[in-house]
Amino acid sequence: MAELQAFDVIFIGGGPAGYTGAIRAAQLGQTVACVEVEPRLGGTCLRVGCIPSKALLESSDKFLETKNTLKKHGVLVENVTLDLAAMLKRKETIVTQLTGGIAGLFKKNKITRFLGHGRLDGGGRVVVKAADGAETAITGKHIILATGSVVTPLNGVALDGDRIGTSTEALSWSQVPEHLVVIGGGVIGLELGSVWLRLGAKVTVLEYADRILAGTDLEVANAAQKLFKRQGMDFRLGVRVTGAQRDGADVVVTVAENEPIRCSHVLLAVGRKPNTAGLALETVGITLEPRGQIPVDDHFRTTAPGIYAVGDVIHGPMLAHKAEEDAVACVEQIVQGCGHVDYNLVPGVVYTEPEIATVGQSEEDLKKAGIAYRKGSFPFAANGRAIALGHTDGFVKLLADATTDRVLGCAIIGPRAGDLIAEVAAAMAFGASSEDIARTCHAHPTLAEVVKEAALAVDGRAVNL
Ligand code: FAD
Ligand code: NAD
Repeated sequence: MAELQAFDVIFIGGGPAGYTGAIRAAQLGQTVACVEVEPRLGGTCLRVGCIPSKALLESSDKFLETKNTLKKHGVLVENVTLDLAAMLKRKETIVTQLTGGIAGLFKKNKITRFLGHGRLDGGGRVVVKAADGAETAITGKHIILATGSVVTPLNGVALDGDRIGTSTEALSWSQVPEHLVVIGGGVIGLELGSVWLRLGAKVTVLEYADRILAGTDLEVANAAQKLFKRQGMDFRLGVRVTGAQRDGADVVVTVAENEPIRCSHVLLAVGRKPNTAGLALETVGITLEPRGQIPVDDHFRTTAPGIYAVGDVIHGPMLAHKAEEDAVACVEQIVQGCGHVDYNLVPGVVYTEPEIATVGQSEEDLKKAGIAYRKGSFPFAANGRAIALGHTDGFVKLLADATTDRVLGCAIIGPRAGDLIAEVAAAMAFGASSEDIARTCHAHPTLAEVVKEAALAVDGRAVNL
């Protein structure tokens, strides 16, 4: 084994949690190492998650818009055809640019990168095993586990790395599926289902629950389902998938108490689970929570002294920005003695058309908790900018405490919902009331005026409706 190098902080995993935390630790004067098994830094998010999926969502949206709606703007384009290879190449170029950018940031911040699989070895040691089997041991005063998550498998679904795939395969199919069956009506199913629907596939979503987007405000999820149906997506709710197998060139999906479905491709998207395989947690006495997460306290400390965990591998929503917040708070806690994440204020965004964004509590959460609230809603159809854009579906719903008027939550379905939610998250972080948002001057004509109108509507005084 090669010589032992010592660091203040070692991250295992170079995704949004690992790379962001590594940079913050370096900014705070720590010597930092990051162990990542994949040649490209950036984790699931940059390599096979957030970024490539958004690149394809953007490209497929442009394709559909050019085909269907540009003529309404008086822009005539004839013979619109798809060059899928070029679309996939653009996606790869973006991934290469961004993952390379992280490597550059590591250099700039003097972070030492180790390429290989990391495992704990007790006594502050991490062993890095390279692809050729060579092992290097390093030591850290603080070791932060940021190994992310992997796809949850489903019994009977025979993943083949091709036509019966996960999100990773569905980001790279070189031909448009004739008929794509999506198992799971969650975020991945709807985003990647949308991509292939726009590019010409027939898309059938099989969802176990009696609704899509579990956990998202129900009124918004129902509105979304109606709009996706109008776009051509077929939904079967309350369905239990029992298997998916190749049958020659086809795939057969079996469903309890229903006829099997013959299709060309399957996307399995029934959730992700924490990735702890091969970390040798037993060498430091860490026992996983029942659902596979690494247990941590408010300071991201595991039960093993000097070992912490952040991101998808611990509790909370599996989101890139949450992973980043975890890592920064963990490092600041270690170095400066304070660091905190308000999990109530982590926005969630689904990048479909229209987008869906939420922050804080939903109406269902408030009812369940017995909190009295007032609600203000405003539709994009009554907003000048939305009409000019030609994107008028959806609404903003703002929820405020019935007594104090403090904003408790917001759900948006509509154009650029993911950008609009940031205003509400910031307002909530400052403890704003709906009156505060309503009295803030919003530029005209902007989509953000819909947020202001929803805030006015909490008090029954929306202007343009
Ligand atoms: P990861 O990004 O999973 O990074 C963990 C890293 O650790 C990986 O690079 C892995 O190779 C490495 N690793 C694991 N074990 C070891 C080991 N033992 N040794 C060395 N290295 C190891 N979230 C959003 O917020 N917005 C989105 O739009 C979004 N879109 C998504 C789309 C898809 C298709 C998917 C699958 C996910 C998406 N997510 C999105 C979720 C997001 O990708 C994750 O929440 C985020 O990547 C979690 O960051 P992380 O650093 O905790 O883990
Ligand atoms: P998800 O939890 O969003 O959705 C999974 C869906 O599958 C649920 O609706 C669930 O009821 C359903 N399901 C579970 N078992 C089933 C079965 N046997 N048959 C049919 N349906 C079943 O999970 P996902 O879509 O796989 O995404 C995984 C994670 O990645 C999520 O936690 C999400 O936060 C993250 N992600 C985020 C974004 C984003 O922020 N835009 C995009 C993609 C992924």
